[in-house]
Amino acid sequence: MVARSFLSASLLACLALGAVGCGAAEPEDEALGVVDDAEDALTMVWPVVRSGQVNQDVTTVQYLLKAAGFTVSLDGSYGAGTETAVKSFQRARGLVADGIVGTSTWAKLIATVSSGSRGGAVEAVQYLLKNRYAKALSVTGTFDTNTVTQVKSFQQSRCLTADGVVGSLTWNALVGRTTNCGGGGTSGSSSSPSTPAASGGPASRILSAHRAGTVTLWNQTFGRYDGADPLNNITDAASGRPAKRSCYGSAPCGSVYLQSGMLNAVAALRERYGYRFFVTTIAGGSHSSGSYHYSGRAIDVDEVNGQRIYGNSTVADQFLSACRSLGAVEAFGPRNDPNGHWDHLHCAW
Ligand SMILES: [Zn+2]
Repeated sequence: MVARSFLSASLLACLALGAVGCGAAEPEDEALGVVDDAEDALTMVWPVVRSGQVNQDVTTVQYLLKAAGFTVSLDGSYGAGTETAVKSFQRARGLVADGIVGTSTWAKLIATVSSGSRGGAVEAVQYLLKNRYAKALSVTGTFDTNTVTQVKSFQQSRCLTADGVVGSLTWNALVGRTTNCGGGGTSGSSSSPSTPAASGGPASRILSAHRAGTVTLWNQTFGRYDGADPLNNITDAASGRPAKRSCYGSAPCGSVYLQSGMLNAVAALRERYGYRFFVTTIAGGSHSSGSYHYSGRAIDVDEVNGQRIYGNSTVADQFLSACRSLGAVEAFGPRNDPNGHWDHLHCAW
């Protein structure tokens, strides 16, 4: 199953009808990244950004508002100033001025940038590459040769045309954390590269999936770089080391060996069930006291198959059901715990 977000509405309709020659009418230039961003972006899945949030999506919106000529602080915190700017932007673009940045607002905020471009949109690209994807570059606002290199490297990692041009597909991959890789659907396609499975325990197989872009392990702990993030946790586990816990909030600090039942299940969610998902926390982060995270038995996931978890959805239900089939002792999400898990899924073994 190809990520739905990468298919245009017309192609989806075409596929649904089973027509011969599907996609023949697709504009040739799409592969070159020269796209009508606004129109294309409307068919993609974007995170919902709203008042009260503090995260990288908010920072990205702030940079893009700056690009559109609005004055906002670039602090990643969606407060009153950001809300005023979002509403003004929405009014100016003929959108409902509700202050909520959803698909239609994202579609108007993003703009194609490439070598030589300057300004807030370039800063947003650089900010995400640096902070979300650990690319070596600075936020300068100038699309220089290093930015071209890093954009191409990112595009390659997401199986997009590596042309160095940030159009709607690349924006969506950057912002929505979507990937065009691993189109193989339910049961493994024979064409998928067989990584040395024999050599790998579950942690190293999860790491391989991360490198392939099918399971994304976050490289930070909600804005902190404390070594307790999922990428570090799994890297440690793959090397036989205990995984770090965080030291802020109610987190107990120290470290813990990730439980093998959890690791096997996470690998199976990818390998057996074919899910692509984004892991935000394993042993790190601050949770309620006695949380299974602290004992290395739980994961939090905020995106499955390119869809961000925000409220009830079929994919959320199915993912939790897969967790339970794999022996999870906890499986929380918007349906069964709307207060605690409205925007992410939690499975523990
Ligand atoms: Zn959790």
